[in-house]
Amino acid sequence: ARQAAFAAAKGPGRTADGHRVPLLANIGKPADLDDALEAGAEGIGLYRTEFLFLDRTEPPSSEEQRCAYRAALEAFPEGKVVVRTLDGGADKPLAFLPAPAEPNPALGERGLRRFRRFPDVMEAQLGALAAVASPGLRVMAPMVATAEEAGWFGQECRARGLSDVGVMIEIPSAALRAREVLARVDFVSIGTNDLAQYAFAADRQVGAVSALHDPWAPALLDLVAMAASAATRVRKPCGVCGESAADPALACVLVGLGASTLSMGAAALPAVRAVLAEHTLDQCRRAAEAARAQPTASYARAAARAHLPGLD
Ligand code: PEP
Ligand code: MG
Repeated sequence: ARQAAFAAAKGPGRTADGHRVPLLANIGKPADLDDALEAGAEGIGLYRTEFLFLDRTEPPSSEEQRCAYRAALEAFPEGKVVVRTLDGGADKPLAFLPAPAEPNPALGERGLRRFRRFPDVMEAQLGALAAVASPGLRVMAPMVATAEEAGWFGQECRARGLSDVGVMIEIPSAALRAREVLARVDFVSIGTNDLAQYAFAADRQVGAVSALHDPWAPALLDLVAMAASAATRVRKPCGVCGESAADPALACVLVGLGASTLSMGAAALPAVRAVLAEHTLDQCRRAAEAARAQPTASYARAAARAHLPGLD
């Protein structure tokens, strides 16, 4: 029966008491747009643009980028589309953004750090985005560690006429200093995959240490809470676009911690929408508080679920 309810459930994300939580899709290639529309996504919360160009040795032209971004904006004329600038390096190597050999690529020159070193590539991407900009477009940088980086990115975007600019919170230093980061941009989005990797010093590509970055880990929830409450205080949006948002019970906890939107692979949207609709904002908050009070990930999960009746 629940399966049928998932399939039927479309429409805007909201809690049982009507608190709105736009449910967005993560995409990486143009074909993902169809899945996002099919699953009833309200927009795109994370466009991983590096996936458009993973196999390329030449930098993508401005024109082919315009095409890809325009397609996403046209698919969601009413919703927002958050396009992330190239996150090359570590788990997403890009041949046209070469890096020197590094002993620890996840701690090396990836994401914004590398983007910054290739002004032509940056110009082509921000220029393409500015050329197709419509009111729904948001531009966001990955791998931001400091307020200085957030400020630099905001300036580069605004200088090209891009007005709604954000950064990912996926490095603990940015979560700890979310207030200063937020002072320099219009929104943030928490990437729980990398935030967990860096919080636990456990490479996301090394299976042997994967148990350390359990998405229910209370330390990770604390970092999310820190960023989300800083955003709530200054009334700026704080989404979550890491894998955590795709677990229905954890999605409720993220809302309870203050996430204003959730973005996930399209396949997870129906279940998250259905479970969110069955619980009130107050239940989400109590689940979040109970989870954070626990010493381990498995206790946190159990404690949250005790406040979220009806989950199997
Ligand atoms: C994340 O780190 O949580 C995230 C959403 O980005 P990616 O998985 O692409 O690094
Ligand atoms: Mg990331």
